[in-house]
Amino acid sequence: LLIRSVGTDGDRLPHTGMMSGTEAGDPVPSAALSSPDADNLMLMFGRQAPVRVRLDLDVGFDGEATSHNVVGEFDGSENLDQRILLGAHLDSWDLGTGAVDDGAGVALVLAAAKLNADLETRPRHPVRVVLYANEEQGVYGGKAYAKLHEADLANHLVGAESDLGADRIYRFKSLVLPGAEAVIELLATHLKKLGIERELAEPAGGGADVGQMRKLGLPVIDLDQDAVRYFDLHHTANDTLDKVNPRNLQQNLAAWATLVYVTANSTVEFGPVAPTE
Ligand SMILES: [Zn+2]
Repeated sequence: LLIRSVGTDGDRLPHTGMMSGTEAGDPVPSAALSSPDADNLMLMFGRQAPVRVRLDLDVGFDGEATSHNVVGEFDGSENLDQRILLGAHLDSWDLGTGAVDDGAGVALVLAAAKLNADLETRPRHPVRVVLYANEEQGVYGGKAYAKLHEADLANHLVGAESDLGADRIYRFKSLVLPGAEAVIELLATHLKKLGIERELAEPAGGGADVGQMRKLGLPVIDLDQDAVRYFDLHHTANDTLDKVNPRNLQQNLAAWATLVYVTANSTVEFGPVAPTE
């Protein structure tokens, strides 16, 4: 199978992805052509002459291996059982360096936790950062964490994930019990100063990895990033650190630090919310 790259860029570096097996059988060896090269191929087809494409693909699969979620936590000032869960993923697609997907997310959740840990008085609740393993090939780390902590759901207060690049946050969404509304409103007041609007029309989803806990009933908050540039870079050889705009990253981090500060100092129950598929 040869497809036109589904990225949004005009570069000759194709956006790549994964082919899954279907009920009909094994996955088909697949490749993506960059948009300019796909256009060129279409022009060649228009000449009414035979077109030959030669593909040299490495589609070897060496079997499953073990990798690990990396988990860190700091205690809250009141040493409560319920922790804030912050997530991002450690792995990246092979072509780029993973600066945007998801190195930026890893940096954001770690920095947001550190800014709160370094306060003179730490927040009431503990804050846990989970850097998930192997999100890209099927959310393996997120699923493993949810399986391991299913019985431990009540010890998680609220969750959030960063996995859509390094640009500005423009809105946020929540999925919490009505009793937590005052805290969400307080968060909205602070985030508004960063130019971030509250979205009421849709509930938060929790992201690919943290969303696995949301399915079990974990309340979640989404800080939604401007992703206009994201699919120019995502899963391409162009996913490198020079694409990260420091000013946008600062605004993003300010939003994350605020989210942690407000939720980890709260005195309400955010969940559990209704489990979903
Ligand atoms: Zn990602």
